[in-house]
Amino acid sequence: MSRIGARQDESGQGRITQGGNTLMTPLRAASGTYVLWLSVPVPQTVTVGRLGAMTVRPGAYAYVGSAFGPGGVRARVRRHRAGTTAPHWHIDYLRPAGRVDQVWHTYDPERRECTWAQALRALPGARTPADGFGASDCRCTAHLVHWACAPTLAAFRERVLRAAPVQASIYVAPGQPHDAPP
Ligand SMILES: [Zn+2]
Repeated sequence: MSRIGARQDESGQGRITQGGNTLMTPLRAASGTYVLWLSVPVPQTVTVGRLGAMTVRPGAYAYVGSAFGPGGVRARVRRHRAGTTAPHWHIDYLRPAGRVDQVWHTYDPERRECTWAQALRALPGARTPADGFGASDCRCTAHLVHWACAPTLAAFRERVLRAAPVQASIYVAPGQPHDAPP
C-alpha cells in the first residue's frame, strides 16, 4: 500500500510523516513512555479507587504512563484500548468514561513520565482534575491532565524538548487498532 508521505524506517515498518515530524506507527513491544488520549463526550462521576469520586467533565484527557515490563508500550496500550474488569491503575477506572483517541509514545530508554506530565500541565488551558491521579510513586501533582480542547503534538513536543533537549523520537499511534497502518 502506498500513501502520500509514507516511507520505510530502519526497522522496515512503514511510517507516515505529517507536518514534517508526526510519525504514525504501529506500536512496538518495547519499553517506553506514553500519553493516552481519552475523549470524554458527556459529564459523569467516576470512582477512582482510593482517590474516591472524581467529577469528569467532557473534553480531552491526557494520561501519562510508562511501560518498562514485558510487552512494553504495545502490551500496555492494548490493555488501555480494551479496558479491563480488574482495575489496577487509576486510569483503569477512568477508561470506560471515554474513547481512546491517540497514543503519543517514545521508546526512549529513560522514563519520561514525570517530564512529560509536567510539560502537559504547563500547556495553555490545562487543568489537573484529580490530585494524585497516576502519581502515587512520584512527586507530581498528577499524571492526568484535562482540556476542553486538546493541545497539539507540536505544542507538547516544543515544551518537552525545552525540558529535555535530547530524547528519542515521539510517535503517534491510533486510538483503536483497526486504524493502524499495515
Ligand atoms: Zn510524576
